[in-house]
Amino acid sequence: MTLHGGCLCGAVSFEIDPPHARFVRCYCSRCRKATGSACASNLYVAPHQLRWLAGIAEVVRFDLPDARSFATSFCRRCGSPLPHATRSGRELIVPAGALDGGLHHGPTRRAHWASRASWLAEHEDGLPDEA
Ligand SMILES: [Zn+2]
Ligand SMILES: [Zn+2]
Repeated sequence: MTLHGGCLCGAVSFEIDPPHARFVRCYCSRCRKATGSACASNLYVAPHQLRWLAGIAEVVRFDLPDARSFATSFCRRCGSPLPHATRSGRELIVPAGALDGGLHHGPTRRAHWASRASWLAEHEDGLPDEA
């Protein structure tokens, strides 16, 4: 089933064709800053699986200059995280929270658990570490 998503203000919308290759929670400090939360929950798909439906002109990409590959995309009006290609262009990272529904199983791996926020130190998410 095609997954529909979009930003908070509604300017940007997109569709993702299944299946996704991975669904990962990342607890690194960069994802904390980019999401304002304890972790990023991201789907990984191939670039051809994404179709922008509206608002592509509102999508801003930010590549962290001193990072090997970290980037984020967001709506310039409302700031919501949006899909973006990895710097290699081989994969597309889709913030799961941008989806409107239709996804019925959660992340299966976690990344950078050792870098999790100090206020999350006692929490255990029960996921295996990413290979
Ligand atoms: Zn928006
Ligand atoms: Zn991260």
